[in-house]
Amino acid sequence: MDFILASNNPHKLEEIKRILLPLGINVIGAKEAGVDLSDIEETGKTFEENARIKARAFVQYTNMPSIGDDSGLMVDALNGEPGVYSARYAGEGAPIGKATEKILNKLKNVEKNDRTAKFVTAICCLFPDGKEIVVHGECHGKVGYAPTGENGFGYDPIFITEDGRTFAQLTPEEKDKISHRGNALRKLKIALENLF
Ligand code: IMP
Repeated sequence: MDFILASNNPHKLEEIKRILLPLGINVIGAKEAGVDLSDIEETGKTFEENARIKARAFVQYTNMPSIGDDSGLMVDALNGEPGVYSARYAGEGAPIGKATEKILNKLKNVEKNDRTAKFVTAICCLFPDGKEIVVHGECHGKVGYAPTGENGFGYDPIFITEDGRTFAQLTPEEKDKISHRGNALRKLKIALENLF
């Protein structure tokens, strides 16, 4: 079965394809499917609401099963910020490097032990007949002091995993094994098997 990913983020598409293809699930990117709904407003208050908003818009437009992924970083010392505002934490359209800088600045006086954070994702898989699967995934770690590593995307260079390396220092396979998205997508596979 093919699914459309309700996202224009090429990094998310790459990760989701990479994780789901070996599990027998083929994902087509919005661009590949000729869909441009970049003006969908993420007005939800939670990751789950936003994931559903994206998936619903794509199902309505394509009449195909669609997957919405909404994710972000939640920093404990910042009361969970940037959270659902992760993509626009430094302002609408600002590069993610600015958002990273903003977090590092806000944490400049915060000690190592208090720099705990988690990546969170909600994935909504919606079918044209209205059936819906929602799964969540988390990955716990700490915010570093400076961007480190070349791999990944977004906040990966400042997110330190349990083994001391940032997400951006892991290979793609190492990230998938422990990441919020990897955890959620493995649950999605089981839920899909139960549905069919
Ligand atoms: P959205 O889910 O499209 O609203 O975007 C969330 C933002 O969070 C993205 O623009 C990324 O900057 C960040 N983000 C989401 N997932 C990851 C990840 O796996 N690594 C690093 N940053 C991420």
